[in-house]
Amino acid sequence: MVILLIGPPGAGKGTQVDRLSQHYCLNKVGTGDILRQEVVKRSELGVKVEGYMKKGKLVPDDIIVDVVTRRMDWGSNCRGYLLDGFPRTKKQAQMLDHLLKERGKKIDLVFNIEVSEPELIRRISGRRVCPKCFRLYHIDYNKPRVDELCDYCRTPLIQREDDREEVVRKRLTLYREETKPLLQYYRRQSKLVDINGNGRAEEVFRQISAYIDSHLSYNSHSNKAELK
Ligand code: AMP
Repeated sequence: MVILLIGPPGAGKGTQVDRLSQHYCLNKVGTGDILRQEVVKRSELGVKVEGYMKKGKLVPDDIIVDVVTRRMDWGSNCRGYLLDGFPRTKKQAQMLDHLLKERGKKIDLVFNIEVSEPELIRRISGRRVCPKCFRLYHIDYNKPRVDELCDYCRTPLIQREDDREEVVRKRLTLYREETKPLLQYYRRQSKLVDINGNGRAEEVFRQISAYIDSHLSYNSHSNKAELK
C-alpha cells in the first residue's frame, strides 16, 4: 500500500503522517524531516541541502530521489509507505512512478489537504519544533506541557528558519507553481482525494482514516489488509 499526502506548507501533513503511519503501520517517508536530520548531523548530504532549505528553495530532484529510494529500500515489516513532501514536482512524480514500478508497487491513494492561505500563515508562524526529536508543537493549538520545552526530550523548542514569514511566502509560491499541478496528474488517474484541512488535527485524521478504512479489504491469504 502506497499513500501520498500533498498539501502546502502548514497544511498539517507532518502531524497526519505521524498518526496515520502508527495507526495503519505504514513506513513514513517524509523528505523534509529526513533532510532536516541530515542537516543537524552535519552529514555530507546535510551540508549539500542546507542552503536550499534555509532559502525555502527546492532541493534538486536527483538528490531527493536518491534519498527516497534509499529510504524505501531499507525494508520494514510495515504494510506499505506513506509519503510526505514527495513528490513536489511533475518530474519527481514521474521518477516516483518509475521507482515504484521497478519494485512491483504503485500509488494507491493521494490525499490533497486543502487549507486557506490566512490559516496557513497563522499555523506556520506559531509552529515550533524540537531540534532533537523533531516533534511538532504550536504556540496556540498544540502547546508543550512545560513552556517552550519538548514534552518528550525536554529540549528547548525552536522556530524553523524556513518558517519565517518571507521564506514561507516563497514556499507557498513554489507550492502553487510546482506542486499544485500534480493534483491534476493524480486526479486524472482517479487517485486523488480532497480533504478539508482547515479543521482540527483530529477532524482531518478522521476524514482521512474514514476514507482509507472504506477502501481497505482484508486478504486472508496474505494475512494483510489491502486497498480494494
Ligand atoms: P517540508 O518540511 O516538507 O516543508 O520540507 C522542507 C524543505 O526541504 C523544503 O522547503 C525543501 O527545501 C526541502 N524538500 C523537502 N522535500 C523536497 C522535495 N520533494 N523536493 C525538493 N525539496 C524538498
